[in-house]
Amino acid sequence: MVMKKIYSPKNFPLDEKTLREIIKKFPTPFHIYDEKKIKENFRQLKKTFSWAPNFREHFAVKATPNPHIVKILAEEGAGTDCSSLAELFLSEMAGVVGEKIILTSNDTPAEEFKKAIELGAIINLDDITHIDFLEKNAGFPKILSFRYNPADIMNEGNEIIGKPAEAKYGLTREQIFSAYEISKNRGVKRFGLHTMVASNELETKTFLYTAKIMFELAAEIKNRLGINFEFINLGGGFGIPYRPEEKPVNFQEIGEGIRELFNEIILPAGMEKIFIATESGRAMTGNAGWLVSTVLHEKNTYKNYIGLDSCMANLMRPALYGAYHHITILGKENFPHDKIYDVTGSLCENNDKFAIDRNLPKIEIGDILVIHDTGAHGHAMGFNYNGKLRSAELLLKENGEIKLIRRAETLDDYFSTLIK
Ligand SMILES: *Cc1c(COP(=O)(O)O)cnc(C)c1O
Repeated sequence: MVMKKIYSPKNFPLDEKTLREIIKKFPTPFHIYDEKKIKENFRQLKKTFSWAPNFREHFAVKATPNPHIVKILAEEGAGTDCSSLAELFLSEMAGVVGEKIILTSNDTPAEEFKKAIELGAIINLDDITHIDFLEKNAGFPKILSFRYNPADIMNEGNEIIGKPAEAKYGLTREQIFSAYEISKNRGVKRFGLHTMVASNELETKTFLYTAKIMFELAAEIKNRLGINFEFINLGGGFGIPYRPEEKPVNFQEIGEGIRELFNEIILPAGMEKIFIATESGRAMTGNAGWLVSTVLHEKNTYKNYIGLDSCMANLMRPALYGAYHHITILGKENFPHDKIYDVTGSLCENNDKFAIDRNLPKIEIGDILVIHDTGAHGHAMGFNYNGKLRSAELLLKENGEIKLIRRAETLDDYFSTLIK
């Protein structure tokens, strides 16, 4: 058998010595985020839409729900996209309030709507029946928008996006016209339009297709109902290349493509004042975070296993989606990758694996593993199965300082909800 020699081309912002110093102070496992990289990611997105008047990114808080992270993006000009009560509070803690917030939730409880109204947020409804529910429980916001599910256009045969018809989100085309008409009749004066169809998408054509159908829909609604939209929110879904051989999103191409569509559809419809919004999570923080973990055990049975001091509680994506996360061994980045391992966590769950049949350099007990691209939907998805505790989060600031932005959970935290 020919061993594939895959070296480790992925970036990590710290050298070996510095990381070992950090580990002395903050024991593994932990996630560490790179402020500089987060800012770069945001600036790239902003540049993509630099031609668009008043472009706004609402950072999807669920990706990295830590106010320190939200604040970094807010200082660069981003708002937030919240989908729960806790996320609304996190946004507030980071100083992001008012129309910088969009509440895009589904199956929404009344107290979430109330909090959103209290904060002056834009509310984006997921269903036509939520108009009554919102009015009754919280009243209308200053700006209301609806989430369109484009299953009528993107049907089963569409290779680009899959099957929106199977997605629980959004209103049908027919409902969306009624929804704007009803809310207009009830006195709502300001409106936006929203969709979110892609996830971890790397292909330009998907984003252009989404923009096209949304621009056309906005023009049609304006035409039929006389609604002048303030914004069109194209959602998130910009992917990152988790695998070293994958190509990153071509933001420049997307920006130019959407600009052409804007000129072709939006301008002739007399909607030149409309602003484009996105609610990107992964593309802001995904490649700016790493899970750092120590090897506790090596086990050789029918396969070779490396057991870490972290588990699915710290990073669920591989177990949940079979997602690939690149792994490097500190100090062995350029060693030949001539061993094959399953890299596992400690849950009593056989899918608690960070990598299966992965080519890696020879690993020793005590080695430090860096698991890449854990900045979005990483720590955030953590849970406490088996009584496993969630890790600390560290921030590498632009000035090189390391800041603890969330301490690790303790057993006391875990037991604190039990009735004594
Ligand atoms: C998850 C989510 C996002 C962010 O998605 P990314 O893939 O992280 O960009 C944006 N909007 C809504 C409504 C979401 O549910």
